[in-house]
Amino acid sequence: MSESLPVIAPAERSAVRSARAEPSARRLPVRNPVTGRVDYEVPALDRAAVATEAERLRRAQPRWAALGASGRAEVLLAFAAVIERRQEAIAAALSVDTGRTLLSRREVEGAARNIRRWARLAPQLLGTGPHGEFRPSAILPDVSYAGQLVPYPLAGFISPWNFPVTLSLIDAVPALAAGSAALVKPSEITPRFVDPLRAALAEVPQLAEVLAFVTGDAETGIALVDEVDLVCFTGSVPTGRLVARQAAGRLIPAFLELGGKDPAIVLAGADVERATDAVLRGSVLNAGQVCLSIERIYVDQRIHDAFVERLVEKAQAVRLSCAPEGGEVGPIIHAPQVDVIRRHLADAVERGARIRCGGAFVENGGTWLAPTVVTHVNHGMALMREETFGPILPVMPFADEDEAVFLANDTDFGLSAAVLAESPEAALPLALRVNAGGISLNDCGLTIQTYEPEKTSFGCSGLGGSRMGPASIFRFVRRKALIAQRGRPQPLADYRDPPAETIGSRGRAADAA
Ligand code: NAD
Repeated sequence: MSESLPVIAPAERSAVRSARAEPSARRLPVRNPVTGRVDYEVPALDRAAVATEAERLRRAQPRWAALGASGRAEVLLAFAAVIERRQEAIAAALSVDTGRTLLSRREVEGAARNIRRWARLAPQLLGTGPHGEFRPSAILPDVSYAGQLVPYPLAGFISPWNFPVTLSLIDAVPALAAGSAALVKPSEITPRFVDPLRAALAEVPQLAEVLAFVTGDAETGIALVDEVDLVCFTGSVPTGRLVARQAAGRLIPAFLELGGKDPAIVLAGADVERATDAVLRGSVLNAGQVCLSIERIYVDQRIHDAFVERLVEKAQAVRLSCAPEGGEVGPIIHAPQVDVIRRHLADAVERGARIRCGGAFVENGGTWLAPTVVTHVNHGMALMREETFGPILPVMPFADEDEAVFLANDTDFGLSAAVLAESPEAALPLALRVNAGGISLNDCGLTIQTYEPEKTSFGCSGLGGSRMGPASIFRFVRRKALIAQRGRPQPLADYRDPPAETIGSRGRAADAA
């Protein structure tokens, strides 16, 4: 699918703002999701430029690692403070990138919080010395052993456009806390925040030696994967496969955080008022452009009609941010996504689905879509199988819990899910049977609000260790065993074999017997 970008007339050229000059780089046009016009451009760093940045970071990384977990934490805390001080500028650029204000501010606040959290946790998790304590072996009496955690020198991060700041830093921060250098390539769709973030980074020179942002598109991403010792990729399944193949060719670890088609199961005992609140927010926040948006809603047939009626009422009360008084739903950030949403809706309607509210796109420079509740859906529809990434709420009844679990698990994805019942305890038995990395009990989307529990993605939603919880930081270290012998090293003579010919003769003797 090709994105149709408005052509920039020569007279308007001066209105196109430019990111920091990179003299020889290709320049990519950047569309404003609110006006629909191209008003910015960003350099796409080529292979040579990426290699130069990678080399610079590599040279500084040993000094960074040598600071120890506590020393690095101090530097990271300084970065958090600068981000907080420069929050307005970063959030303002991010708002233009994404067409929404409040979530942009929250992203920047959250980034600083994430840095503070890792600065606190890393020394506890990694220890503050160069290695762990020696412990006696239970197998060899004179032997003791300790562990050393050795960071991957240079880790690479590739991020998408839906939460540009959060997802550019979510993995890079624990990597830095672990002692790696971090090379980050944000999405070319939403790159305006990079310059103000770089300005913040420049105030912390020690960190600027080991953290860099390279702008660009697929070509820059491919070059990055060729330079790093480990890659964390957040984005779509098709690109994730390409990154995984490239990483496999280089034998470097690839941690993939990919798409989803998250289900919510609403049991008969659920409070309809609470459940509709949770599902509406879980589906519609950020105009549904969230990897763990609720994109399939299964409701016990006994409460299905009441649930749909209330959901429609609430969906109709939601306002679009292009209204004069503002609203909860912003524009579709990436223009080609409009076509995906259109295709899913058209296919569903053609196959018998009914649109209960919403469904009409509002073109006001950018493109908006009101929350769209759809019923009479089934798993033959793209709307129930492929990631839609829009504010769409398809609702389907189920007869019993086995059917609900079957439907929830009938997917290629497995990012997260939600089960709503009269209480979290009542939701738990079903949650245990749903195949996904994080299940919210009696709410939706709790994993992005807590960050604490470890989770891995199921199915095509991802690959590799947990990005959440303490395990996250251990993705960036290799474990070295230090094994000490205090007794006599075993002499080779202990391994003396009888003559080799006796092996065959024993065999012959056994055959004869
Ligand atoms: P995308 O796959 O198109 O692009 C993601 C990034 O990869 C961009 O920076 C892009 O420039 C880069 N890229 C493109 N081709 C590349 C290549 N061959 N090699 C290396 N890098 C390459 O994804 P998108 O449209 O930006 O993001 C939306 C997708 O991201 C959705 O599927 C969404 O579910 C997913 N996502 C997942 C999570 C998660 O945590 N699981 C979070 C947010 C978004």
